[in-house]
Amino acid sequence: MVIENLNDVPHFGFGMMRLPLLDPDDVTNIDIEQVCRMADVFMEHGFTYFDTAYPYHKGYSERAVKEVLVNRYDRESFLLADKLPAWSLHEKEDVERIFNEQLERTGAGFFDFYLLHSVEKQWYPIYEKYDCFNWALKKKEEGLIRHFGFSYHDDPELLDMILTAHPEVEFVQIQMNYLDWENPVVQAHANYDVCRKHGVYVNVMEPVKGGTLAALPEKETEILRKVNPDGSTASWAIRFVLSHEGMLTVLSGMSSMDQMNDNMRTVSDFHPLNDQENKAVHEVVSSMLDKPAIGCTACRYCVDGCPMRITIPELFRAMNSYTMYGDNNRARGYYKAAVSGDHARASDCIQCGRCETSCPQHLPIRTLLEKVKDVFD
Ligand code: SF4
Ligand code: SF4
Repeated sequence: MVIENLNDVPHFGFGMMRLPLLDPDDVTNIDIEQVCRMADVFMEHGFTYFDTAYPYHKGYSERAVKEVLVNRYDRESFLLADKLPAWSLHEKEDVERIFNEQLERTGAGFFDFYLLHSVEKQWYPIYEKYDCFNWALKKKEEGLIRHFGFSYHDDPELLDMILTAHPEVEFVQIQMNYLDWENPVVQAHANYDVCRKHGVYVNVMEPVKGGTLAALPEKETEILRKVNPDGSTASWAIRFVLSHEGMLTVLSGMSSMDQMNDNMRTVSDFHPLNDQENKAVHEVVSSMLDKPAIGCTACRYCVDGCPMRITIPELFRAMNSYTMYGDNNRARGYYKAAVSGDHARASDCIQCGRCETSCPQHLPIRTLLEKVKDVFD
């Protein structure tokens, strides 16, 4: 599908990082049949954008693209985004090697959208060192990439500097949701403004903050329900993002048909938040910020490198359940499940710090695990 004007990309994309699993303990064991059904319904509704990346599902998300899309659909009927991982680049040749591996895994032939993954202070120098911006332009000339951008997890000053140095960038993927809009770590609002200033399209990730905004506590749900009794809590989050201009697409990492149907309804029948609704969202944010929730988006980038096999996002989920919902039984259930089998407890953390270098949310994971330990161990 040749997209001349990026405005024409449907404003809702299928994030393939939290696909449904056949075995909940094995992220490589994707329920391909269910993903096929979801993709079919997604496409039937006129949506076409699919987003994968080299590390998603330990490489099996890219393989799922082949089974679900490439083998079943005309290549020009869908749009595919993939990403280059700086943390796997150890010499210049790795850039080409990984790109070819991605073409091989997906069988896609080319990528409609290609991103440098997770550009931030830690990784940006690697992308420059291996000349990845110019490399991407060459790939565009060769027809192997149609549109080029990067995903971003840092402050607006660095973003401004990179976009000034690289006017060839067409879009930037940022974390954007109403809870992170003024979050001093994520700085979604300021990053959005920088993108607009440079005239690049904004691709949104984490619009429901890893599911947090789809499952609000009762008090916050009631604030929204009073204003609009029919909208799901997730629909408010999607509408907040889509109420802004300059969007390429809003990516939702969907794990079930229900989530997908709800999101599609919201986007197909989209109307921007009105003043009263914006006020309600602000009220929810104030109420949520009163609780010390851990801003983990469950991206799982930290998990593989942990020598103790601690399932960090699951432990944080238990902790958030404990602090946000005051639901001790449910929280303990989450914790018990997270430390089952050969997974370690929070108290097994050896404080090596490896996890913190890969966390795009810059969470002080070691300190937070101490708190988890105090509550659950
Ligand atoms: S600091 Fe703890 S949780 Fe983080 S990687 Fe090391 S052992 Fe795992
Ligand atoms: S702790 Fe950080 S890296 Fe780990 S899952 Fe949460 S947000 Fe992702």
